Amino acid sequence: MTYQYVDAHCHIQFEQYAEDDVELIERMRAEGVIGIVVGVDYESSHKAVALAEKYEHLFASVGLHPNHITKEQFHIWNYRTLAEHPKVVAIGECGLDYFRPTEVNDEVKRAQSEALRAHISLAAESNKPLIIHARPSKGTMDEYHDLIKILKEAKTTYPTLRGDIHFFVGGVSEMQELVALGFTISFTAVITFTRDYDEVIKAVPLTSILSETDAPYVAPVSRRGKRNDPFAVIDVVAKIADIRDESLETVREALFTNAKHLLHKATNILHSLSTKEYENTKQSKRH
Ligand SMILES: [Zn+2]
Repeated sequence: MTYQYVDAHCHIQFEQYAEDDVELIERMRAEGVIGIVVGVDYESSHKAVALAEKYEHLFASVGLHPNHITKEQFHIWNYRTLAEHPKVVAIGECGLDYFRPTEVNDEVKRAQSEALRAHISLAAESNKPLIIHARPSKGTMDEYHDLIKILKEAKTTYPTLRGDIHFFVGGVSEMQELVALGFTISFTAVITFTRDYDEVIKAVPLTSILSETDAPYVAPVSRRGKRNDPFAVIDVVAKIADIRDESLETVREALFTNAKHLLHKATNILHSLSTKEYENTKQSKRH
């Protein structure tokens, strides 16, 4: 078995997996799924790094989720130590979340954008991509407009800044602006049960798409309501191919390549993982 899929965003360090994470991670290896384990605060970022250190097919991203900035302050020096680890391939998830208008007032928005800017500095200094959480208030694109503004500004200081917009819920014009800024767009298994994203999935260049699951959240239609896991990335890739009317193999290979490009720092590790046979690794480990 060779590695064929990258789940660019999962949280398998969360307690939902405490009972069976070892089996799950071994099965990922057996089924050819590489995972980027994403932190949402210091503790979960630390756990993500520990998993990445232990398993060759897991990588980590470290950051503070915008909904957690009320519980924890983002101290760059704290996260810098984690970010230096060679298997930390991205900074995040960070970003802006305007979804709950009663909780998200101007002060909260200001704090979120401040934390996002600090993540941008860390991404720039460590030359790693950002993993961005972007959620507008209901029925609007308000948050995307603020995000695009911040990223445009940041690009003038850090021209090589790049990253992924995780769980994309924007429209075609927001997608185009973000792609023009050098960001990829990723989709979860939500695309298996709603047609809301078909237009944007058809419009986005194949070179700018990543597959992800956001597990344990949003299980695909076949397992709706249950705990999600990184295997859903297989459903996501198939659905993207279906919506775009392209061959499954073309899409699978393109999305795997996109993940390798984004995860610049880990390219060599990912390359060797995607070409070597799993059986060989298993055997060499026995000796
Ligand atoms: Zn997430």
